[in-house]
Amino acid sequence: MSRPPFKFSRRNSIAVRIGSIAVGGDAPVVVQSMTNTDTADVAATVKQVAELAEAGSELVRITVNTDEAAAAVPLIRERLASQGVNVPLIGDFHFNGHRLLARHPACAETLDKYRINPGNVGRGRKKDEQFATIVETACRHDKPVRIGVNWGSLDQELAARLMDDNARLPHPQPAAEVMHEAMMLSALESARRAEEIGLGHDRIVLSVKMSGVQDLIAVYRKLAARCDYPLHLGLTEAGMGSKGIVASTAALAVLLQEGIGDTIRISLTPEPGGSRTQEVIVAQEILQAMGIRSFAPAVVACPGCGRTSSDYFQHLAQRIQGYLREQMPVWRDRYPGVENLTVAVMGCVVNGPGESKQAHIGISLPGTGETPVAPVYVDGEKTVTLKGEQIAAEFQQLVADYVIRRYGGGV
Ligand code: SF4
Repeated sequence: MSRPPFKFSRRNSIAVRIGSIAVGGDAPVVVQSMTNTDTADVAATVKQVAELAEAGSELVRITVNTDEAAAAVPLIRERLASQGVNVPLIGDFHFNGHRLLARHPACAETLDKYRINPGNVGRGRKKDEQFATIVETACRHDKPVRIGVNWGSLDQELAARLMDDNARLPHPQPAAEVMHEAMMLSALESARRAEEIGLGHDRIVLSVKMSGVQDLIAVYRKLAARCDYPLHLGLTEAGMGSKGIVASTAALAVLLQEGIGDTIRISLTPEPGGSRTQEVIVAQEILQAMGIRSFAPAVVACPGCGRTSSDYFQHLAQRIQGYLREQMPVWRDRYPGVENLTVAVMGCVVNGPGESKQAHIGISLPGTGETPVAPVYVDGEKTVTLKGEQIAAEFQQLVADYVIRRYGGGV
């Protein structure tokens, strides 16, 4: 039988509506992603947004950095809608956001949220004016704003001021502490200014992304204790492949476990030719592995060892995993609850029957020296023993039949 769900206690935050999606409050932790296409290239951006949404991204951010990109935003929305893709779009603005939003009111109206980085809005007196222009535009169009502070572009005037103040203390804090304080204050002071300009308290999301795992955990803990705005989590510049996945998971898991985080993004550098959707899958898998949300059936597979008689079970685990993911776009609506399904694919009798009984459906393949048969367990009971060349196809069919019976209203 599957394990009982773990109960998480979430930090109290206000709810912010972003298009059709709620973030914060009682809403589940939301998965978001960001395109890496040139937004002015409408066809490429539409294709990637659709892929990210299909993979399960609930919010998608696009760069809006030029007049051409801003002009493309309404066309992108239109084409996505014609394909039935209604995922909220967030515009990412730096340096010239105030000008682009003023020159392209259709872009301002189309986007579901604006993301601004206080470190990249402008310098000196212009910074405040340009920040105010963007926030006023958000107020006019009734759009929420994410104030996204980033370690790589932290407001240098603020950082220098805090460093100077710290240096004058009788017992100065370590530099890292001061930097964390600067990140947090940049977000909170910008939020306060945005509210003074007229943006609603319930129209603001904050983030304070850093590239170091311990830095990220420390700064989000501080920020979470100081405000009730929803928080968007992400380890910035996480890196490529397993390094990026592990670092992001290490940082986000600690915070999520403490109830901190209302939306997440995994900032992976894609492998050359790799799919952008990997960042969505990793985000979902973190939430699912922690028992916070379920997105797709889980395959429990042993790592294999000297008892494994061949790589057959690896192929079977991969086949079942791929099959389940491929079915999800259809199954999600047709079989409500199927995302909670667990399937075990195990390599031998040592842990095979035990783990298979814990899953909804599991198979224990024969290890070295075992009789070449594969018992299948359904809801904790052995129901059939497979053998011969067609074990993989037969087990896949048993999984499909189980899904129909359990989630199709037949059980
Ligand atoms: S279940 Fe068997 S094959 Fe798999 S890791 Fe354990 S002992 Fe090895």
